[in-house]
Amino acid sequence: MHTITSSDRLFAFDNSYARLPERLFARVSPAPAPAPRLLQLNRPLAEALGLDPDGLMRPEGLDILSGNCIASGSDPIAMAYAGHQFGNWVPQLGDGRAILIGEVIDRDGFRRDIQLKGAGRTPFSRMGDGKAPLGPVLREFIVSEAMASLGIPTTRSLAAVATGEQVIRETVHSGAVLTRVAASHVRIGTFQFFYARKDAEALQALADHAIARHDPEAAASDIPALALLERVMARQADLVARWMGVGFIHGVMNTDNMAISGETIDYGPCAFMDAYREGEVFSSIDVGGRYAYGNQPRIAHWNLAQLAQALLPLLPGPGEAAVEAAQAAVDRFSDMFQEAWLGVMRRKLGFSRPDEGDADLAATLLSIMEADGADFTLTFRGLAECAGAGPGITSQVGDLFSEPGSVAAWADRWAARIADDPLSPAERRTAMRAANPLFIPRNHRIEEALVAAAEGDFGPFERLRRVLARPFDDQPDEAQLARPPRAGEVVTRTFCGT
Ligand code: AMP
Ligand code: MG
Repeated sequence: MHTITSSDRLFAFDNSYARLPERLFARVSPAPAPAPRLLQLNRPLAEALGLDPDGLMRPEGLDILSGNCIASGSDPIAMAYAGHQFGNWVPQLGDGRAILIGEVIDRDGFRRDIQLKGAGRTPFSRMGDGKAPLGPVLREFIVSEAMASLGIPTTRSLAAVATGEQVIRETVHSGAVLTRVAASHVRIGTFQFFYARKDAEALQALADHAIARHDPEAAASDIPALALLERVMARQADLVARWMGVGFIHGVMNTDNMAISGETIDYGPCAFMDAYREGEVFSSIDVGGRYAYGNQPRIAHWNLAQLAQALLPLLPGPGEAAVEAAQAAVDRFSDMFQEAWLGVMRRKLGFSRPDEGDADLAATLLSIMEADGADFTLTFRGLAECAGAGPGITSQVGDLFSEPGSVAAWADRWAARIADDPLSPAERRTAMRAANPLFIPRNHRIEEALVAAAEGDFGPFERLRRVLARPFDDQPDEAQLARPPRAGEVVTRTFCGT
């Protein structure tokens, strides 16, 4: 049975989503955890949220983070949403293994959702058990926090708690609950859910909520829903460009896994690539490569067209005028993305101002890298060092490749390009080091850390977490974690593990 903790208010909840019309969600209770045990706590995040980390570590805190107790002020709900999964329409998905326990206002005044992932069944669970195995919980923890440290918008991980229960998948796993923190959990699929049901009233309430939360200035524009669409598009263009800039492949860019906030959400079979390959795919379920690295901008565009469609009932005028306005907005995505991507690549290549040839310079480098099998992360990090080199730059760039000759012409072009740019070599090296991480969560290191954690040894996990918190800093003692996998270490497949 649930107890309501009220002893000390660990969370000052204010639950705006739970005040929306009831058909946007289902009220639920987390499932009790027989023997909660704290595995990981994100103290800096707790502090940023205005929470007391020590309080969270006490039994009362642990009971809340495991779903054992409903905190005072909490109004736990599972959100309704639909979505296109691998392009196929699914009219009802919803939070099947996640429970929003409430919202808090963080130290900076921003509203944040606090959600328990893996805390039991909800009316949206369908055949699922609502639980989460330890491995995927730790995977999301490490990758989402690495993403945040890379400066990329993302949901965060506040805590991982073992439930003391066993979760059955292909084999038996320890059960765990991840506390996920998000600017909101409104997805493209949330809008689609009500569009498909022709529920314009719910759609309006949802749009008003999203605007108040993410785009308050859109409320004053002529057509707020259109302004919302444009802002979501801009955030997604920026997000996907940033992913591409660190070699990230989301893996399941279904419309239910794309947040209106512009945060990366739903870390399932995602991965960072080692060697650069435009068509790279890791997800075991992405058989056709729909969500391959290089397809991500096209998929984002397609998903945003679904959002535009779902917002049609909120656009004024006869059907045709609304469709035209939405279509015109959606049509701008390719340019938005190209601009965002160029911005990322210019920073990576050390250009402080734009030049016409930049897109070609970046694309040419990537195709040379692909032909060479060059490591994405270390090649760009290496270029940062070359940028400080002065004369001899071409041969230094060549040293980053197994076939130095293949990059010589490109290196000459790059050298000429940066010679024309106002930054000094030292300034450029600094700027490039801040744009090109040394440490990314490489698949083989994640696997290694999860295998050890499953056996109760959190040493490798904590080491990885610590190093990835400072991805742009040289950490000479941890150079091992920067290197790509050796032949026997390569991980070619990742799993959602739901
Ligand atoms: P995802 O692949 O994580 O985006 O999830 C797709 C849908 O399946 C969402 O509606 C999830 O809530 C649901 N789901 C995934 N795993 C489970 C589970 N173990 N129990 C219940 N629902 C689940
Ligand atoms: Mg999902």
